Parts: sequence; C-alpha cells; structure tokens
Amino acid sequence: MFRKVIRVNQSLRPILRNMSKEGVSSSVFDTPPSDTIFAKMIRGEIKVDPVYQDDHVIVLKDINPQAPTHLLLLPKKAQIGLLRNASESDAETLGRLLTVAGNLAKEHNLEEGYRLVINQGTKSQQSVNYLHVHLLSGRQFSWPPG
Ligand code: 5GP
Repeated sequence: MFRKVIRVNQSLRPILRNMSKEGVSSSVFDTPPSDTIFAKMIRGEIKVDPVYQDDHVIVLKDINPQAPTHLLLLPKKAQIGLLRNASESDAETLGRLLTVAGNLAKEHNLEEGYRLVINQGTKSQQSVNYLHVHLLSGRQFSWPPG
C-alpha cells in the first residue's frame, strides 16, 4: 500500500495549521460563540455595567474605545459569530440591533454622525466570535475605512 506524500513548503505550515475548514484563522473562530467573553457577559457569568438592555440586546462601552463614543451592541438570543450562520429565527434580534442603535444615537445626541461597524472574519479584524455591532461617534471618520 502506497501512502501519497504531499510536500508542503515550510513557510506555509504555520498558515495551514491555523486554517479551519472555513478558511479563516482558528485563533478567533475556534472559540464557539457561546464560549466567548460576550456570551459569558450576557449569561451574567462576567459582571458588566450595561449602557442599555432589553430582551434582545445588551449595550456595553467598548473596553478599548476607538472614538469618544464607542458602544458594542450584542444580540442576546442570536448566539452566532458570523452573519452567514444566522437563521430566520434570528431575524427579530438582528433587526433590533439596528433599531436600538438608532435610539441610542438619538439619546446620545449623535446628530453630527456616527458609524456602525460589524466586523466579519479575520481580514476585517474580527476579534471576538460573537456577533456585535460597533457604534462609533464623536470624531471625524474617513472613507474608505482602513
Ligand atoms: P471585533 O474586533 O470582534 O469587531 O470587536 C471586539 C471588540 O470587543 C473590540 O473593540 C474590543 O475592544 C472589545 N472588547 C474585547 N474584550 C472586551 C471586554 O472584556 N469588555 C468590553 N467592554 N469590550 C471588550
């Protein structure tokens, strides 16, 4: 019986080791959404001081703010990391993220402008595998984004 030997260029080994089946780096996406820090916050296993919450959404201040206002809107019920894994039953919670963002913008008087960001995947620099919307405001943003 012959075993087929495939030679892999040494420089590619670390890259291949870190690739999951979906082709994204394993460091973030190997943690299931339900094991992430955000899921633990929602379950109350890690204490947080929410800016706002209702049945669908919890809003926190980002620990490492990238603008004078930097909030994170987390869906409570849709335990997903990537939108492509969302199902029909997540639609209400996902919609609530945007309506809550609009309400927060009104309450925080962000009429000069704000930006909503949802990082998806390694190239976008998503660092937590739990879907979240960034609400950033209080400074001039550039376009295209970096
Ligand atoms: P991502 O990079 O996945 O789009 O966004 C994750 C965000 O979560 C980052 O902006 C990061 O600063 C924030 N973050 C990470 N850990 C914590 C934490 O323990 N508490 C809070 N409030 N934010 C966090």
